Amino acid sequence: PTREEIAYFGAGPASLPTPVIETASAAIVNYQSSGLGILEQSHRSSSSAEIITTATSHLASLINLPSDGSYSIIFMQGGGTGQFAATAYNMLAYKAGLLLKAHNNNISIVKSKLAEMKADYLVTGSWSKKAAAELGSIAGKKFLNVAASSTDFSIPPEDAWKLTEKEKELYAYYCDNETIDGVEFPGFPAALEGRDVVVDMSSNVLSRQFDPTKYAIIFAGAQKNVGPAGVTIVVVRSDVLQNQPDADTLRELGLPVPPIVFHYPTIVKAGSLYNTLPIFDVFICREVMAGLVLKGGLAAQEQVANRKAKLLYDALDAGEGVFEIVPKKGVRSRMNICFRLKGGEDAEKRFLKGAEAKGLTGLKGHRSVGGMRISNYNSIPLEAAEKLAGYINDFVKTEK
Ligand code: PLP
Repeated sequence: PTREEIAYFGAGPASLPTPVIETASAAIVNYQSSGLGILEQSHRSSSSAEIITTATSHLASLINLPSDGSYSIIFMQGGGTGQFAATAYNMLAYKAGLLLKAHNNNISIVKSKLAEMKADYLVTGSWSKKAAAELGSIAGKKFLNVAASSTDFSIPPEDAWKLTEKEKELYAYYCDNETIDGVEFPGFPAALEGRDVVVDMSSNVLSRQFDPTKYAIIFAGAQKNVGPAGVTIVVVRSDVLQNQPDADTLRELGLPVPPIVFHYPTIVKAGSLYNTLPIFDVFICREVMAGLVLKGGLAAQEQVANRKAKLLYDALDAGEGVFEIVPKKGVRSRMNICFRLKGGEDAEKRFLKGAEAKGLTGLKGHRSVGGMRISNYNSIPLEAAEKLAGYINDFVKTEK
């Protein structure tokens, strides 16, 4: 089939807009008539600098980032998983730095203070669970407080969260959209207001408006809504970068020392070019973001995303006898729509086969939870969502 004949609903890497792929293909052969392809250019060339600068400014404008230097944007490698580690390393070092400042660099006082402190993780699905485990493995379980935990495709109500008191909290962590489980926070959790919050937006970033100033760190692997696998977007509040103790002091405090590629102050200082950055990946992100800016930014994208999600959920709800939507209402993800077929495996096979025949692909759920999953990322056009909703309606008729 041609690209036009396929609507791909896979969970990531996601499909990319065809015009971006075409521009990128030409750039691989000969970038800006330089006689060299973009993959062959130095990450320190002026053309690479231009790509990083414009990608950064598009992102800043899309998310309304303050321009007063209170936040930095960096591009990193290591994926979302790398950030499970990077966020833990940097937040621990940041808090240790603050304590050292407050206690005249007295190591034993700071050590005893740290011994009472915890990072609060909201475990609402597979990815936040992995992030919490990573903190435990890097720094020790003593620093981990699982403040809320759900294993049934829901988000526990805020009044049931067991958050550490603010003064003793290292940071609070949550995953805005659980890609595998299909649950998404409807908005910023009120209970985390005024705390140092780390958020994983890997699978819903740039799909709705949000206030970046509520966060200490925002990260997102690019490969769902922004670009290809291989680059991760990180937005970090500037004070997190300041006063991080050096490696010897961290060791004295019994804290882990971040590998240099995960040390935000180093990467920010180097403008994301401490080591070789995959510029081609950043280029694709830049092109995707430029398209979003032209189409009216996140306000417009949010409307489209909501409309597509509603179409699909409505179709599934209408086919209640055939389908069962997995996540609880109110926390259903607009990005990853998880459902099962009441007719079991045979019905699933029929559903997938019929979809495939219509060019609707990538609908199988994650192996760990089974069922079906429609990933409704930004690159899915409204027409593709309409086509899939139409197929869902038709399928219900044939199953009855
Ligand atoms: N966080 C979320 C929400 C994800 O969906 C994923 C991957 O799908 C990850 C983290 C891990 O990202 P990576 O595979 O880039 O390490």
